[in-house]
Amino acid sequence: MMEHDIPIIILSDDDDENEGDFFTTHNDSSVMIVENEGNEADVSKHIEELDEDLAITYSQTATVLPHARYDCTLAFCRAEQDLSGPLEDNGKHCDQCFCYICDKLASVCEFWTIPGICHCNAHKHSVYWKALRDKSLMGFLHELNFTFDPLDMDSDLRHAETSLQKFAGSLAMKYATFLLGFEDPSYSTSCWCTCHRNIKSTTPCQTIGCNGCYKHHIKILDYDYTVVSQHIKMFLNEAKKENPKACVVMLLGAIKLFVTHTTPGNIHAANIVSETVSMLLWRFMTKVWMLLVAFNFSSSFIKQLETFYQKLPLPSNCTLPKSLSVLPWDDPLLSAVMKGQNITGERQGKGRRHKVLCEPVVVIQARVCKLQQQNKYRELARYLKVVKSINNLTLQRMKDLVPLYLCKDGDYTGAVCHMLSPMPGAMCLASRLTPQQFRAYLRILTSGHAPDVAQEFDTGNGNMIIPDPLLSTKWTPIEGSNSFKMMEVLKFALRVLDCNSIVFANSETWVYLLSVVSSSFTSPDGFPIGAFYPEPDITYQTETRDAASAILEELTTTSRIQIPKTFESGYPDQARLLLATQALVLRIFHSKFRPILSVIMSFRFNFWALRWFFYSLLVRPEVLHYLLCCLLEELSDKRYQLLQRKWTETEHSLVAYFLCMYFWENSVVLDLNTYPTNSLLATWNESHNPWQLSLKLYLECNEAKLTPEKRKILHLIQQQEKMGLTSIPF
Ligand SMILES: [Zn+2]
Ligand SMILES: [Zn+2]
Ligand SMILES: [Zn+2]
Ligand SMILES: [Zn+2]
Repeated sequence: MMEHDIPIIILSDDDDENEGDFFTTHNDSSVMIVENEGNEADVSKHIEELDEDLAITYSQTATVLPHARYDCTLAFCRAEQDLSGPLEDNGKHCDQCFCYICDKLASVCEFWTIPGICHCNAHKHSVYWKALRDKSLMGFLHELNFTFDPLDMDSDLRHAETSLQKFAGSLAMKYATFLLGFEDPSYSTSCWCTCHRNIKSTTPCQTIGCNGCYKHHIKILDYDYTVVSQHIKMFLNEAKKENPKACVVMLLGAIKLFVTHTTPGNIHAANIVSETVSMLLWRFMTKVWMLLVAFNFSSSFIKQLETFYQKLPLPSNCTLPKSLSVLPWDDPLLSAVMKGQNITGERQGKGRRHKVLCEPVVVIQARVCKLQQQNKYRELARYLKVVKSINNLTLQRMKDLVPLYLCKDGDYTGAVCHMLSPMPGAMCLASRLTPQQFRAYLRILTSGHAPDVAQEFDTGNGNMIIPDPLLSTKWTPIEGSNSFKMMEVLKFALRVLDCNSIVFANSETWVYLLSVVSSSFTSPDGFPIGAFYPEPDITYQTETRDAASAILEELTTTSRIQIPKTFESGYPDQARLLLATQALVLRIFHSKFRPILSVIMSFRFNFWALRWFFYSLLVRPEVLHYLLCCLLEELSDKRYQLLQRKWTETEHSLVAYFLCMYFWENSVVLDLNTYPTNSLLATWNESHNPWQLSLKLYLECNEAKLTPEKRKILHLIQQQEKMGLTSIPF
């Protein structure tokens, strides 16, 4: 036999009247697993059949095992609540008797027989003693009014309990110091009153001063809540490091400890405290909701948290949601929305009331955060498209990121479509994009990379304070991204430009768009890599100007864009570039546009398109003249001169080529005595400006084509060089 090694299960012979109460019996420590100490004399060996499943094979006399006093072989007298003194022999105990309240040996219980406390009378069938035991098990959590079942006290709750108790102590000290206030030294003014002459310097300051000057001596106290709020924030950071369950209890418990903080100071100080408390409340509760959304807590646990939350003395102006509980992820409506089965966020129950997916903004934020972490952008977009809330502004800002999430999921068509669709209660997103956001989308659509979305975010007073992820500098490849046709990118861009006046007015955007459409791809860091496109025949170029105008005309009148198949035939890349160029021409006709130099630069690889651009502008000679003035100003501007030093021959030649067209086109008038021609001549300096040399060479090659007036200008240019009249621009 191996009795020495066999664990013995000892079931207490409990005279349990309420056997149905599983928890009570389970909790009273009378079921124990112990190691056989090997004292065979004390072990009576017998097999007792209790039922088919359970047999007691060994038992030990109960006296040697720890037990509650009321389970002892010593006689015990029961009463519901008698604290006057030990009842009958209750004060006696054996050396394995445990105090039911303190959960330690009766011999070390400090209150065993103390009248008024008298733990020796405690037993589990008394409501009073049971409550007292729960309270002692729950410790500080009980004091805070948490309603957990003491049986659920696990290591997380214990940890929360000790942390909260420690925090309560330290917070109380800091708060007490705060309430004392401090004297603001800037208030003390020197007093010139005559009453001070007889007073020695040792006199306490409260007693100095007379009726005439007492005002100068009133102590004005100031209150600085910063130290307290720092301490609370420190606890928040500590709690964040704990297990979710411990953290959530720590946060809610801590709120109870600071939510009632006020100040005895003036209204200004009171406002500061109330604002700080409100800010802290939001920060704490946001984290709570994040945890509730992120982790599957048991429903009973959440119910207890809810009970606690309902009883919190929140300030009357508090805008936190009224209920703590959140929809579980497997809620039928929520999961149908995530799966794309429900695209309205509403559901008509059978005979039941209409159900709408409506959640507090903090909960929505928590879900966004969770789905971002899981890279579930498709689900995130579906959810944000339909979810409703009370705070529309914050929600709108979150919803505005739907296209970004769709892009991150590789669904460019969906993203573009969403941006251009009308939204209930708001203008379509395309019309509200900033130029930077618009350029970011162009970059996403052409580079297959997207900005990283913020993983962690914090809230102030319920408002998201994360930076715009579209402006993030960290971009990563989109997994499984399917390419988006460049013509589709251009169509999207033209529709945005049509409905968004701020983007339309922004010249940088136009320059970026031109570079994008004249590139074969966009590098991961967002730079369009320019491509050379062969010049299409002249007939095509002329026809395309008319076709492009018709497309753009239709866009402005109907907000629709339709590209006829014939438009792209033969020259798809060139067609795209010319359509964008014609759109820019209309933009330039619309209102003043600067800088023009960067526009010219974007034709670096396609001189022929620059010429096409010039001839599109020709219908408005006054605009061409304005552009010439702008260009010459920019060329002599210090800011651009720095840039020009980095130019290669191509750039100088490109500028010269554009200027050259003013000479070659006979219908354009250049008067050598008026601005800007006179100014150009006056500041001519070929050695400083290689583009001037380039221009001169272009003109000399085509001198025969020039009108007499323009030939005269060329001669003047040639003379200037010969005479060495180099006036250096300041
Ligand atoms: Zn005993
Ligand atoms: Zn005790
Ligand atoms: Zn005085
Ligand atoms: Zn005085």
